[in-house]
Amino acid sequence: LGRSLHQGVGVRAAATPSAVEPAEETFSYQTETDRIMDMIVNSLYSNRDVFVRELVSNASDALDKMRLTALQNQDEYKSGADLEIRIKVDKEAGTLTIEDSGIGMTREELLSSLGTIARSGTKKFMEAMQDKQDANLIGQFGVGFYSAFLVADKVTVQTKSNASEDQWTWEGAAGAHSYKVRRDAEVDLKRGTRITLHLKEDAKEFADAAKIEGLLKQYSEFISFPIKLWTTSF
Ligand code: ADP
Ligand code: MG
Repeated sequence: LGRSLHQGVGVRAAATPSAVEPAEETFSYQTETDRIMDMIVNSLYSNRDVFVRELVSNASDALDKMRLTALQNQDEYKSGADLEIRIKVDKEAGTLTIEDSGIGMTREELLSSLGTIARSGTKKFMEAMQDKQDANLIGQFGVGFYSAFLVADKVTVQTKSNASEDQWTWEGAAGAHSYKVRRDAEVDLKRGTRITLHLKEDAKEFADAAKIEGLLKQYSEFISFPIKLWTTSF
């Protein structure tokens, strides 16, 4: 897990007064994660639209896990939210949001999944990327999430696990060496994960519905869940 750099002050919501925890915590990335993020952002620039495939495939994986959980045990199925992916573009805000009603992440899962990379794969990934700057490598080595930083200077992940009542926010910035995690005061996800990409100045083109539609056709044709595309400005 990341090392806690600084602990914010504050007390968690009154619902469970016994557990006092900081309102927001800052964690530094593992050295490996830091290097891999740099490498992805610097070497896949001309392939940056692959982030769509990576984030949609993560959403689809999370939906698969939810479907499996529901099949195994209906009681475990906490919310009736449909199994689907919702993508929203907002030109004015310069954001692209990818939301799924999949399994979601607990705080522990959030910390172990985003910010940490299995050490064993790191060296191989670096070597493979130096050899051939192939965008498919990020999927193969399990570092697809970080492709978000190809187009976003800030990434906000909000998530609510099927197994928990709490919703969490993870926030990271391109080129930063740390990320933040906090509990959301308001829980607005029934279940699942919402990833908001605050697009870089030179990547505003991705806040366009037609552009995203084209990329979905190109990269995510075989996703077995409905993908709904919303736009707030035309
Ligand atoms: P991989 O998908 O190969 O494991 P990624 O870097 O794409 O690697 O994602 C890392 C991990 O982050 C995933 O394994 C998963 O645990 C978690 N994760 C990413 N996106 C989501 C999501 N939308 N819902 C739930 N978990 C997610
Ligand atoms: Mg992935």
